[in-house]
Amino acid sequence: MSLPSTIAVDGPASSGKSTVSFAVSRRIGYLFVDTGAFYRAITLLALEQHLDLDNFAEVSALAERAQIDITPELADDGRQYTVMTDGRDITAAIHAPEVDAAVSKVSAIPGVRAALLNTQRKIAARGRVIMAGRDIGTIVLPDADLKIYIDASLEERATRRYHQRASNGESADLDAIREAIRKRDEADSQRAISPLLRAPDAVYLDTSHLTQLEAIEAMIRILHEWSREKNHEQR
Ligand code: C5P
Repeated sequence: MSLPSTIAVDGPASSGKSTVSFAVSRRIGYLFVDTGAFYRAITLLALEQHLDLDNFAEVSALAERAQIDITPELADDGRQYTVMTDGRDITAAIHAPEVDAAVSKVSAIPGVRAALLNTQRKIAARGRVIMAGRDIGTIVLPDADLKIYIDASLEERATRRYHQRASNGESADLDAIREAIRKRDEADSQRAISPLLRAPDAVYLDTSHLTQLEAIEAMIRILHEWSREKNHEQR
């Protein structure tokens, strides 16, 4: 049975889209690309360089010149990929709370999005890829073979993030985490350019009441459903 070659996965913060997409990509031998990592890497560099995030020209110039390499390399710290810049491994650093708090501001800058768009399309053009983000089914890959929108309730997403932080030995406060996620969703959904949107032709997957394994199985079922329909059409 042939599977969709390009799979676009969108959804709000901490909806489980990366975890589920990563697991499915390993099962079917596809490349997993988490586009949030690009925006996070640029945000980290902008913060390290003390750029004024309101200065669109400066941050856009950084996005254009930044050498960010995302490779499928794994380590035993549970990572889904490795992010390098100038020979430095920034995989852990891009998930720091300071980056969480600033990334929506950086990702709303048109010059930053323009700098990343072609890179993302070039990666996807090789096929056999699951690409996850906010605007993949709508802007980056509007012609993706299959689009999935992965959602979960705010409470569930906050609780998952809380447990993730706590199990990593990081300090975690449920109310603060819930508020940070809510604010990021609001910013990502309401921005003028490439907002978080459910593409009309995306399959909707709500993982609120699913375990991680059940969510993975649900995505696999969506892939098989797509294949069955394709086979049917071709007959
Ligand atoms: O998916 P993740 O939470 O890592 O994304 C971090 C941030 O990057 C999002 O909150 C959003 O501001 C931005 N982003 C985006 N478009 C994408 C992926 C991520 O604007 N395709």
